[in-house]
Amino acid sequence: MIAKCDCQQCGQPIEFDIEHDREFVACPTCDKQTRLLIPIQPKAPRSLRIEGKTPFVAAYLIGAIVLVVAGYAFSSMLNLDEDGTLTLTAICGIPLYFVPTAVGWQKKNRQAIFMLNLLAGWTTIGWVVAMVWACMKD
Ligand SMILES: [Zn+2]
Repeated sequence: MIAKCDCQQCGQPIEFDIEHDREFVACPTCDKQTRLLIPIQPKAPRSLRIEGKTPFVAAYLIGAIVLVVAGYAFSSMLNLDEDGTLTLTAICGIPLYFVPTAVGWQKKNRQAIFMLNLLAGWTTIGWVVAMVWACMKD
């Protein structure tokens, strides 16, 4: 693999094989001693944005799942019939239903994602579309 760095003496770019990283060589332009160093790639600001929002989404997702499990467990504690269990679990599942909105909350078109999630989420396909949309780049 080929890397590129600038000569520390004259600033001219030097191409070298990455195997020679950190070696001292004579610069082909100015003939002075310079060290070959693979330049460190600066982190893209985009990845920082994702790092910032991941804990919120993860916390929301875990909270939503815990709520559904808790709702289901609570309904069996109350000895509810099948319909009662289903109703209580469904009510506790509302945050889980809005996961696409939570994922897409920092997007420019979050209102559109929310509307799709709210109005078409129950069709499953609408929910999947909202989720994919929320995961897409702005
Ligand atoms: Zn040089």
